Amino acid sequence: MAGTEASRRLAEWLRDQYRSDGFDAEIVSYSAWMPQPREVKLELTKPENKPLATPEQAVSGDKDTSDKRIVPAFNSYSPSADVTAPVVYVNYGLEADYQQLEAMGVSVEGKIVLARYGQGYRGIKVKVAEQHKAAAVILYSDPQDDGAVAGQTFPNGPWRPISGIQRGSIIYTQIYPGDPLTPDIGSTPGGTHFAPADAPNLPRIPAMPINAQDAAVILGALTGPRAPSGWQGGLPFTYHVGPGDAEVQMTLSMDYKERPLYDVIAKLRGTDDGEWVILGNHHDAWVYGAADPGSGTASMLEAARALGTLAKSGWKPQRTIVMCEWDGEEEGLLGSTAWVQANLAELQQKAVAYINTDVGVTGPNFTASATPSLKDFVRDVTRDITDPKSSRSVYDAWRAYSAQQQETHSGTARQAPPQDASGKVPIAGMGSGSDFSAFLDHAGIPCIDMGFTGPYGVYHSAYDDFYWMKHFGDPSFSYHAAMAQILATVALRLDEADILPFDYPAYALEIEHAATNAFTKTTNQTDEDALAATLDAAAHLSASAHNASEALRRISNAPLDPQRADEMNHALASVEQAFLAPEGLIGRPWFRHTIFAPGSYDGYAVSMIPGENDALQRNDSATLRREAASLSAALMRASARLEEITRMAREAAQPQVPAGH
Ligand SMILES: [Zn+2]
Repeated sequence: MAGTEASRRLAEWLRDQYRSDGFDAEIVSYSAWMPQPREVKLELTKPENKPLATPEQAVSGDKDTSDKRIVPAFNSYSPSADVTAPVVYVNYGLEADYQQLEAMGVSVEGKIVLARYGQGYRGIKVKVAEQHKAAAVILYSDPQDDGAVAGQTFPNGPWRPISGIQRGSIIYTQIYPGDPLTPDIGSTPGGTHFAPADAPNLPRIPAMPINAQDAAVILGALTGPRAPSGWQGGLPFTYHVGPGDAEVQMTLSMDYKERPLYDVIAKLRGTDDGEWVILGNHHDAWVYGAADPGSGTASMLEAARALGTLAKSGWKPQRTIVMCEWDGEEEGLLGSTAWVQANLAELQQKAVAYINTDVGVTGPNFTASATPSLKDFVRDVTRDITDPKSSRSVYDAWRAYSAQQQETHSGTARQAPPQDASGKVPIAGMGSGSDFSAFLDHAGIPCIDMGFTGPYGVYHSAYDDFYWMKHFGDPSFSYHAAMAQILATVALRLDEADILPFDYPAYALEIEHAATNAFTKTTNQTDEDALAATLDAAAHLSASAHNASEALRRISNAPLDPQRADEMNHALASVEQAFLAPEGLIGRPWFRHTIFAPGSYDGYAVSMIPGENDALQRNDSATLRREAASLSAALMRASARLEEITRMAREAAQPQVPAGH
């Protein structure tokens, strides 16, 4: 867990692994305001007394589940508290759920709300509860979402048993990730320093997680109206929303202080140290974290060993390969955000792309999200890696699974991204929830996030351990090997590309779709005019992207002057930065990317052109017009860079004029 002595020891071990593979590896330390739990208590006080907050049960055959050092289940960044109040069940605890309660005449003011996990980031649930004046939040894992209703539970299957608890941070990463007290340290001269009471991303009401067996006691005691349709979960009785007679007491004592973070930064220096290909994953975990993040870390280390072996045989990378092991991801992307902010100017100058893996393997189904410029690149890499189970390519297995998912979920609320008209496997945009956030949202660096997924009900519990992985996640560890092959191939291809494989026509097309979609949501003439301007800018970007792509295609097989190639590659990698608005999104200036941000209301889900869409959702015309102007300006900046690339490519195609003329 971040902030502990064990985290330092793990960082040292990782550093030494990279060193033995021939990397130049160092620990880079930061500190952040972080809590650890002293006491986490919950009791039913009415209609009868009953202690809750029962811990996860030890499982016979898996000795790790009985270790006394397992941290009690808590929600990181909850304030300390002693609250006694009646309970209201709020389903997933999202805005729409509160609107439904209001329509039923049920108020949550001064109540403790009981929300189930799922459908969004837990920090959004707490923020929404805070806005509705709830006194505290209890989060629980309903068997319907990742437990017995989904399938066999641990240790007989991969799903969450009745005593399993999901730990997790509730810091408002949707406002900004990283150290709550210094949101812009490193990236802004001087920087802000908040007192804990003023930090805008810290929750003001307490929260704690419980298991389904404790939730059953509380839910079973609730009276009041019957839960609306869609709110009934998997526990074997009819849910009521409350409040009624049920009352609970929550007692939390959190030990807050500045605690150390230990990032590991490992470099394999290239011929050209002016360009960096960066890979990363976190090393901190809530308990064992065999899947989250251990599976990703194992694959990263194996990729590093392969690259190191190549280097020892005489190969030298063209660009520098940087492999990062972040600390404090679970608390709120602390380690990656601190490093990006501290090295912002150098990263914006040198970074070609950032490749993230986190939960590397929980099953056989490949999944990726990426900035649109890199989606085809990801598809291409997976065409050349073999899927261990089917012996087809990872791409073909991925495409078949994705089509099957599409069929299963079509017509339901859980929609996968629509199948590409070209028949390519769809790849989602970048939301949030892992360490790529600072790279993309704050620094404007192109990103990819990848992993293999499967039935995984032990997320953030003590059961995410070696036994789980060995019996359910990846018994032969063959998907760990495939993940290592994918990471190393991505690194090598980006490293050795003469011209970087960015696809800007695809990027522009996605922006045109998003801008058109926003335009259709306008309800008055002024808004319509504002968004018509962004539609024009998006069309202009498309034209510039196509010209650049055509000019680059013409020189793709010609020998290139290294300095010209270098200039073109820098320009190609920096188009993403043109999408940054220097002043950031209105209301959350840390998020500077005008095309992508995590949703303000949906948590992990991606929000495209977030400034316009958030303003449309709030019906805020003044903000909408400012965000539309900021987006149009960003699109025009990106167009100008692409036109510059077209010019460079056309010049490179001309015969060289001898010097002196
Ligand atoms: Zn993780």
